[in-house]
Amino acid sequence: MFFSFVGFFRMEAGTLEASNCDIVSWFDRVSTNAGVAQRETLRRIIELNHGVEYLKEWLGDIDAKEMDACEIESLYTSLVPLVSHADLEPYIRRIADGDISPILTQHPITTLSLSSGTTEGRQKFVPFTRHSSQTTLQIFRLAAAYRSRVYPTRDGGRILEFIYSSKRFKTKGGLTAGTATTHYYASEDFKIKQEKTKAFTCSPHEVISSGDYKQTTYCHLLLGLFFRDEVEFITSTFAYSIVQAFVSFEELWKEICKDIKEGNVSSRITLPKMRKAVLDIVKPNPILASKIKAVCEDLQGSDWYGLVPKLWPNAKYVYSIMTGSMQPYLKKLRHHAGSLPLVSADYGSTESWIGVNLDPSLPPENVTFSVMPTFSYFEFIPLYRQNQDSSSGSVDFIEDEPVPLSQVKVGQEYEIVLTTFTGLYRYRLGDVVEVSGFHNGTPKLNFICRRKLILAVNIDKNTEKDLQLVVERGSELLSNHRAELVDFTSSAEVVRQPGHYVIYWEIKGEVEESVLFECCREMDASFVDHGYVVSRRTNSIGPLELCIVERGTFKKILDHFIGNGAALSQFKTPRCTSDRMLLRILDLCTVKRVRSTAYG
Ligand code: AMP
Repeated sequence: MFFSFVGFFRMEAGTLEASNCDIVSWFDRVSTNAGVAQRETLRRIIELNHGVEYLKEWLGDIDAKEMDACEIESLYTSLVPLVSHADLEPYIRRIADGDISPILTQHPITTLSLSSGTTEGRQKFVPFTRHSSQTTLQIFRLAAAYRSRVYPTRDGGRILEFIYSSKRFKTKGGLTAGTATTHYYASEDFKIKQEKTKAFTCSPHEVISSGDYKQTTYCHLLLGLFFRDEVEFITSTFAYSIVQAFVSFEELWKEICKDIKEGNVSSRITLPKMRKAVLDIVKPNPILASKIKAVCEDLQGSDWYGLVPKLWPNAKYVYSIMTGSMQPYLKKLRHHAGSLPLVSADYGSTESWIGVNLDPSLPPENVTFSVMPTFSYFEFIPLYRQNQDSSSGSVDFIEDEPVPLSQVKVGQEYEIVLTTFTGLYRYRLGDVVEVSGFHNGTPKLNFICRRKLILAVNIDKNTEKDLQLVVERGSELLSNHRAELVDFTSSAEVVRQPGHYVIYWEIKGEVEESVLFECCREMDASFVDHGYVVSRRTNSIGPLELCIVERGTFKKILDHFIGNGAALSQFKTPRCTSDRMLLRILDLCTVKRVRSTAYG
């Protein structure tokens, strides 16, 4: 119980004034004894769910109460198989359809979360329980406590949060379904977080939950500016949303200034509940409006460089997930943030929170995540890059047997496996991480990429990370020509022989065709994967194709996903796609194509 997460909450209920010190010293305790905390966590999960159908299948009638935590760990990991979402889908489907027997958990599941699906192409249902939102509150408070040591903020200040709920709906069996962030924003824990961290979001619930991301973005910006002097920091779940909001601001600022001047809300806000909620807050403030107008006129001349500190003079930092597939937006974010620090947010998934950033002063490129050893039971599958001369195109990494958290090694790459309080048992998350060190006894993880191989024509294997590096190299050339990369994706074209990679770029600014040829050549030559290099030399993979898409194409892609039920808060541009609809949008929007001349 000493480590128990639930125990922490009970303790707090009695001491409402619990300070940041409590949560930091709690984490110090559990991270120092991370191995023990992990075994206790597994024991609790197994005990709480004793007798559920899924565990019975693998563990029979074994009663964890009779065993010590080490015995449970070794029995559990030897008898219960590693699974992917597809293996658990039939069980989750029955729950969604209304089967109330204890299938995965003893506690009835009434809510399901949708993972974003923008990386996998398809949304997946995952059980959501009170534990899910409690852990969200817990990790947010812990991270806030560490941030406040480096970047103190004023109590009672406001946060400009670019957060978005998606619509919730009922499954066939009557369960509530929506994204995990949507459930969280609707939960008591979201309110508790504001009280405990003494920082309040600018927008009321009606704005966050409108379901129309364009209208919500407008109101976030309007209210963020209305409360301009109170804003202590600016945040979103994934960095993409902040970039998206400020790019829209370049178009919207005049209208927003007018609203602030008149205490009104633009006619583009058509949803009655949201209109009313915002009108209840915004009062005419011509002085503020003219100040903002002057700043914006000035910012226009410098391509909106340093927009954040100029518009929000008391903001201390910008806070969001900036690692992994968000890295490509860093450049734009830095441009908008100017002198303000960028603080990279924590590492988690719809399935479970995983690690917290305890070094907020590190630049996003160097950030690591300390594993939360009481949130879930974690295992780590060691991954080894294949021998360079391997000719098997089917496996991206060679795997070893999974190891518990206490046995991970610094410098080794792993795939994460989760056993959660919400009924996922030895579930492969699909993320590749590297252990970069330890915080007390808990590993610090570097996020590397999604496991899924993304670009492959034959024996070549390139991950999301490989593609990111290549695109970074190629797009460096744009900056010499006053142009910038807005967003990108790719596909492996295998219908026509020889197959080849296609990379789609949306660019801001005009560049000559000769520059594009150069960028394309540079990217083709920058793929270092041996399979790719050999195949290119022998022409079994054709020259890389760079397609330039018209401005606004990636917004269309976002709209396509939102239209299919994705939430902006969780959106991640797919970095490689075989989705026919997406490829259709990309092809229709392509305005220029060039082919690489690397390899002759
Ligand atoms: P979702 O399926 O929408 O819940 O997204 C979860 C996925 O987002 C994780 O499995 C990771 O691949 C990615 N992700 C979440 N947090 C981070 C982070 N801090 N850095 C990099 N990638 C992250």
